Amino acid sequence: MALCDLFDGFLIDLDGVVYVGDEPLPGAADAITELQHNGKHVRFLTNDPVSPRGHYVAQLRSMGITTQDDDVVTAGWATARFIEERAEAPSMRVFVVGSVALKHEVASVGAVVVDDSATDADIVVVGGHRGFDYAELLAASRFVRQGADLVATGRDATFPMPGGPWPATGSVLAAVEVASGVTAEVVGKPERHMFSSACASLSVPKTRIVVVGDTPGSDIEGGRRAGLATVLVTDDPAPRDSIAADFIIPALTDLLV
Ligand SMILES: [Mg+2]
Repeated sequence: MALCDLFDGFLIDLDGVVYVGDEPLPGAADAITELQHNGKHVRFLTNDPVSPRGHYVAQLRSMGITTQDDDVVTAGWATARFIEERAEAPSMRVFVVGSVALKHEVASVGAVVVDDSATDADIVVVGGHRGFDYAELLAASRFVRQGADLVATGRDATFPMPGGPWPATGSVLAAVEVASGVTAEVVGKPERHMFSSACASLSVPKTRIVVVGDTPGSDIEGGRRAGLATVLVTDDPAPRDSIAADFIIPALTDLLV
């Protein structure tokens, strides 16, 4: 029996599992295609709060993987689902520190996205983006001090770039938290909310869903918190005693053997 036979739903981390940067990992596309042909349900997970799901659909299709928007779970998409579930009224007013795509995700669940000229807001959502500025920080901290809930897409301090790490959502969030005096509720990995949203999008029992990722502190810890089985993909021969993953495999193709 192959490892994949134990599960029907697969929550697969993208960067480091399916590709690294723009480079597809050997065999990953074929492995995913075979899972799909075997009737498995696949969701692709990324903590990226900036890009719309269509960006990843295009990237995966360019690798030969058949996919659509509903198969992609970004931290932005999961955050929109999170605030939709928490909303006391369907037309909650949300101030978004983040990209245009993140604002669209929030608006897609019926929220009213307000700008910094608003007098108040019900929720402030923070997702790192390159347009972050003092006016956003000022408005976000003012709304939170007035009672708005503070929700963030993630707490990753940086993300890797060719010339060295760039500030990610966690760096922007730190400014908002310091200015408002409030600690945010975080949706993205390793928090369980992102995995819960992904699970809810699958009509598969939780016991048959597995998280597949390359980062113990993010994918594996997050899967564990969400009560899901976990597979760590790593070719690092370092001691594995401290890693809490249920299975460790060197590459995605090993799901099929
Ligand atoms: Mg990864």
